[in-house]
Amino acid sequence: MRESIEPLGDPGDRLLAGACKVAVKTARMLRSAAMKACLGLLVLAAALGAAELPQPVAVDPGGPGKPPSDAVVLFNGKDLSGWQQADGAPAKWTVKNGEMVCNTESGNILTKETFGSAQIHVEFATPDQREATGQARGNSGVYVQGRYEVQVLDSYNNPTYADGSASAIYKQSAPLVNASRPPEQWQTYDIIYRAPKCYGGHIIGPGSMTILHNGVLVQDHFELQGPTPGGLKEPFDPCKPGPILLQAHVHPQVAETAMRFRNLWVRKLDH
Ligand code: MG
Repeated sequence: MRESIEPLGDPGDRLLAGACKVAVKTARMLRSAAMKACLGLLVLAAALGAAELPQPVAVDPGGPGKPPSDAVVLFNGKDLSGWQQADGAPAKWTVKNGEMVCNTESGNILTKETFGSAQIHVEFATPDQREATGQARGNSGVYVQGRYEVQVLDSYNNPTYADGSASAIYKQSAPLVNASRPPEQWQTYDIIYRAPKCYGGHIIGPGSMTILHNGVLVQDHFELQGPTPGGLKEPFDPCKPGPILLQAHVHPQVAETAMRFRNLWVRKLDH
């Protein structure tokens, strides 16, 4: 609302009223100038801010069975050209119906390419081994950087020690919930892995993992305490990128096994 000043009869009052009008007008002008200056500064700040932030790189997110466009595909559905045995020999797993199959005593396999921090997608189906219990039923594992096992197990109605169940970081962190599907059904792990921080070839800060099991959060930025059992041994350098290792688990309760994997991919997060 505009301010109003009533006219006064006395000359002194009129002079005073005139002075007040001038003062009000001046105040309005100053306020208007200040507002324009503020507006200009805001526009300038926004322009500078926009200039500092690069546009996000466009990535085709893919979809069910299809990796994002910037992912490294670990398995092409046809052969095991990207994999090898731990001793460097050709991978002994088999490929059937677009799936990688770990048969009994076929040994661990690992990627030829190595990775540090990464987003890792794995799909797996455990065999139906209801005759077995606990760690014997549908056991495998995804070792990140060759060192840290994300446990694969048929944990559907199959109690075992909590930090050894499906999606546990083996013997370090039990999952927040059990999001397992029954055996023979496809399941997913989405792992956000941050490698340990290193300086001069020594670890100075722990790595971490966040994991979704079938889309459900099961590990929430867990700080890794060290390598888990069964991973790659020294002289493997923990400060350098390492392979993704898939475990071929052997247990006397299970005569034969056929662990299946498909649609494996990695997005590097080092950049
Ligand atoms: Mg295992």
